[in-house]
Amino acid sequence: MKQKTIIITGIPGVGKTTVLNELSKLAEQEKKKLQVFNYGFVMVEAAQLEGLKIERDTLRQAPLNIQQRLQAKAATEIVNRSSNVDIMIIDTHMIVKTDKGYWPGLPLTVLEKLDPDLLFLIETEPEEILSRRTKDKTRTRDQVLTKEIKEELAFSRFVAASCSTLTGAPVMILNNLQGEQLKVAKEILNIIKLLDRE
Ligand code: ATP
Ligand code: AMP
Ligand code: MG
Repeated sequence: MKQKTIIITGIPGVGKTTVLNELSKLAEQEKKKLQVFNYGFVMVEAAQLEGLKIERDTLRQAPLNIQQRLQAKAATEIVNRSSNVDIMIIDTHMIVKTDKGYWPGLPLTVLEKLDPDLLFLIETEPEEILSRRTKDKTRTRDQVLTKEIKEELAFSRFVAASCSTLTGAPVMILNNLQGEQLKVAKEILNIIKLLDRE
């Protein structure tokens, strides 16, 4: 079976990592060889190798040329690390909100390296995302107005459509409702199983 690559995206605080933790547990129960890569984490590792002092929540404030270099390195690294994996899951973002505006998490050069089979966009209500960002003290997320979250959600959809057109991979939009992270993980797993039949 050809390796499958699934890209999971969504704006900060929507719950991607929470859902993917559930997905990893489900996959383990079903003995599926699935590995999750957090794109930002791999970028931070690449930054550390360069001797740069950059953390996950300061990455988006780094000069754009540095972010671009780390983004390219992370794509190569993820592909290299995934050679023995049946299903590669990438936890990332359609857009990154930089001081120069919305910047694509998956420009063509990255998409060509990753060659995804499926794209997911996780969403939920803007007010809920705002509340999750505020309550989660483990991270330093941008505290913005509801109308800015709405814009991030809308722009992520536009970019998801572009990624789908560029790769030919379908986009599935899933709503990560309050307390429903396991349900969303199950939905993702069921769609992955459909790929197994191909
Ligand atoms: P980032 O892009 O910044 O890494 P993320 O999309 O990975 O964000 P998480 O870290 O998974 O988001 O979740 C953000 C917060 O929302 C966490 O405190 C998490 O517990 C909570 N959360 C995630 N999903 C749900 C849900 N379905 N119901 C309630 N709370 C949730
Ligand atoms: P996360 O842990 O998913 O919040 O990712 C941490 C940070 O990594 C994000 O806020 C972005 O700055 C960066 N990041 C994640 N994915 C990408 C990507 N595909 N391209 C560029 N930066 C990314
Ligand atoms: Mg996360």
